[in-house]
Amino acid sequence: MTVSHAADWVVHKFGGSSVADHRQFLKIQAILEKDKRRSVIVVSAPGKRHSGEAKLTDLLYLCHELAKKGMPVDSPFSLIRDRFLEIEKELKLNAGIAEEMEKFHRQIVDGVDRDFIASRGEYFSGRLMAKFLNAVFVEPGEAIFFDKAGRLDPKSYDALGKLFSDPSKRYVMPGFYGADAKGRIKTFSRGGSDISGAIAARAAKAELYENWTDVSGLLMADPRIVENPHPLDIVSYREIRELSYMGASVFHDEAIAPVREAGIPINIRNTNKPDDAGTMIVSKLPEVTRYDIAGVAGKKNFSMFSVEKTMMNKEVGFARKFLELFENHQVSIEHCPTSIDTMSVVVASEEIGDKSEAIREDVLRILQPDNLDTEHELSLIAVVGEGMARQSGMAARVFKALAAAANHDYVAAYDAIKKAVVSGSWRCASASRATCASSGPRSSWRRARKWR
Ligand code: ASP
Repeated sequence: MTVSHAADWVVHKFGGSSVADHRQFLKIQAILEKDKRRSVIVVSAPGKRHSGEAKLTDLLYLCHELAKKGMPVDSPFSLIRDRFLEIEKELKLNAGIAEEMEKFHRQIVDGVDRDFIASRGEYFSGRLMAKFLNAVFVEPGEAIFFDKAGRLDPKSYDALGKLFSDPSKRYVMPGFYGADAKGRIKTFSRGGSDISGAIAARAAKAELYENWTDVSGLLMADPRIVENPHPLDIVSYREIRELSYMGASVFHDEAIAPVREAGIPINIRNTNKPDDAGTMIVSKLPEVTRYDIAGVAGKKNFSMFSVEKTMMNKEVGFARKFLELFENHQVSIEHCPTSIDTMSVVVASEEIGDKSEAIREDVLRILQPDNLDTEHELSLIAVVGEGMARQSGMAARVFKALAAAANHDYVAAYDAIKKAVVSGSWRCASASRATCASSGPRSSWRRARKWR
């Protein structure tokens, strides 16, 4: 479904590092001053100012843990309170934070809900930001609803959209929470302010969802493994889902759905380098892209069951019986590479737990294979790119690089968007490095055309 975009609404979501202190608030103000479009601003709770510091949300969860055990909460609580009071003071806001904090302290000691406590990081951040920007404060507990099963209720879009009614005003909404079917505050999973931003973008029928963080967009590989990976300037929703599912830490994967359904592009940008273009996430890539890879990602801890049986391809129902057996054990399947006489099933090892022997026994009894091989501690490495299916020689380059890097044992699984390689766990890093390197010299990993 594509909604018609209200000419020039933009939703800006600022993550924890972007609201970490009053200096970051000033950067946000400067960013918004340059942008004349109508805006909704969604904020996270203040994050770390330096590596030794705790995120406020973590301190809030700690307060809850302590209060539950009847222990004093004063030491984490004062860290939380002081962070907000400092922002209020430095920006000369007079937002009444001290009084509200006193009340909040009493609520924690009295045993208020865990989600309510966790949500206050975003709430106070939003209160201060609204005051600072002279914007309308939007309370998500009044417009973002969860149904009885804990899923987002689609009526939230209309309810929230109605609150963004005046185009001459700016709106500020705390991220991370809404209200459950009984009206109690309920949070999304960790990192959930990205989801709130996506919901706000859909509700405002925005033309763009800008997600501001502390990096200038997404990288094509994990920088802890691959030295200086290239940034991605454009990537599709499908590619990003695949990369984040395969272990790339991008933004919250549940944040894709609300904007994807409405065809709203996402722009990941850097609050500390606002002139950088960042990464555009779009529903449809341009017709012609010069390079076909979006990125390489990997996940560890998979198990693979491989059966070999001569003339297997002539045995009608063989594959179904093999797969059904995993279903009977309530194990979900990741990949199924096949060849003429062999078929493998790759599953996450945590799904297998202690069922491995029972599954093996069933395979031997039901399928009567010539050979059954089980391997654990495997890694999956995915090379993701929508254009790969159109390009000949891509698989050859990937496997050549792997072979050159180490003597990898692998099986390959393909679909239109990715090539997945299964290899020994300890080799995951070197395999990713090799796979990236194989495309490095030919290209800068960049797509030739920018989205705008
Ligand atoms: N503050 C929450 C967290 O740390 C939500 C967010 O920042 O997106 O998970």
